[in-house]
Amino acid sequence: MFDWLIVGAGFAGSVIAERLASQCGAQVLVIDKRNHVGGNAYDRYDEAGILIHQYGPHIFHTNSARIFDYLSQFTAWRAYEHRVLSRVDARLLPIPINRTTLNELYGLRLSTAEEVERLLAARAEPVEHVRTAEDVVLSQVGRDLYEKFFRGYTLKQWGLAPSELDKSVTARVPVRTNTDDRYFNDTYQAMPAGGYTRMFERMLRHKSIKIMLQTELRDIQDVIPFRRMVYTGPIDEFFDYRFGKLPYRSLRFEHVTLPEEWHQPVGVVNYPQDEPYTRVTEYKHLTGQSHPHTSLTFEYPADAGDPYYPIPRPENQQRYKAYERLANATPNVEFVGRLATYRYYNMDQVVGQALASFKRIVEQEAAAPQPYARHRAVEQAPALRRA
Ligand code: FAD
Ligand code: UDP
Repeated sequence: MFDWLIVGAGFAGSVIAERLASQCGAQVLVIDKRNHVGGNAYDRYDEAGILIHQYGPHIFHTNSARIFDYLSQFTAWRAYEHRVLSRVDARLLPIPINRTTLNELYGLRLSTAEEVERLLAARAEPVEHVRTAEDVVLSQVGRDLYEKFFRGYTLKQWGLAPSELDKSVTARVPVRTNTDDRYFNDTYQAMPAGGYTRMFERMLRHKSIKIMLQTELRDIQDVIPFRRMVYTGPIDEFFDYRFGKLPYRSLRFEHVTLPEEWHQPVGVVNYPQDEPYTRVTEYKHLTGQSHPHTSLTFEYPADAGDPYYPIPRPENQQRYKAYERLANATPNVEFVGRLATYRYYNMDQVVGQALASFKRIVEQEAAAPQPYARHRAVEQAPALRRA
């Protein structure tokens, strides 16, 4: 009898499993339908011996000391500030758009933030209510920069025009008036020194955590007894698509190794124009690994395939809300993570959500205590001794 069944060994499932085992003494079974832990953050050494990310580039960044400290129990870190260039009209320009981008693109010599602000203000289009991903960009930088850097990329990435997506999508990318060319603004920006998979293995290495890979929920649901469940898969699948399918965007990853030491000047190059892929990642920039060859991933967006991105649109959010009401009325199952709460969350946000969910579980259990296996074992010990 397990106290908890955790469905999914990504960040959501692994954090809760670790907390329940280490803080509550619970007996936990973690299952994943894939043949590895780590969910979409899984990394592995490829045939050339280069550490790559199986599901595209994962760069850790957060403003939360609490989340960074929590993960630091399971990994050392390599300081890494992510930089991205966008290939526009056959040139590689910094994205997020900053002063350098504008100077190089338009042959200018802007040297102060005020000059940049003036230029952007003259180009920006007035938008009364910023509602869509298009509004965000047009109202900040105007149509030419929108067309060059955002429209084509977003069309490829989502199969939708920016005007059909929620503003939160492009609001992820800032606009800068200085020459800061880092992709993220966060206080903590780092990569797990030994890789993500090793970090997950350490999180899950506990005597009361059992892991079963290549195992689907439906394979074991009626076979292995458990008291409560944490579900981190797609919420619509859990409820047999009762309110219809929630749309997810997928990707096809093409991993290649080239017989050259370096292929591109930064970790990621974005392709907002004619190429069929959206971005190319060169992992050695991220990991700091030395190797005479180099491994890259090309990302090709797709409708069908593994569900990677919830699609932020009002009607999808409405459908999710119907599932959420059902989830709230389902006793003994917690829904946590990017797919189970249909949120376009980064890794740190999922860790934060999982820690909050664990806190709620502890409070619920304090209100209606049910002894965990460790305590049951202690209670049973005298009887066992007698036998
Ligand atoms: P997942 O990692 O998806 O884990 C869910 C697990 O559940 C999966 O392993 C799945 O196999 C398993 N599962 C589902 N259903 C079942 C079932 N029925 N039975 C058994 N197992 C099941 N975030 C960042 O912070 N920085 C980045 O740079 C970044 N880059 C990204 C790049 C890409 C291409 C993608 C797709 C995402 C990126 N993210 C990034 C987001 C990050 O991947 C997620 O925030 C995080 O991995 C979500 O963790 P999770 O546990 O919620 O879900
Ligand atoms: N985006 C874009 N051009 C870029 C970078 C981003 O149009 O060069 C848009 C695109 O819609 C993308 C969103 O901004 O999906 C968020 O970008 P981010 O890099 O955060 O995407 P993720 O890493 O989550 O794929």
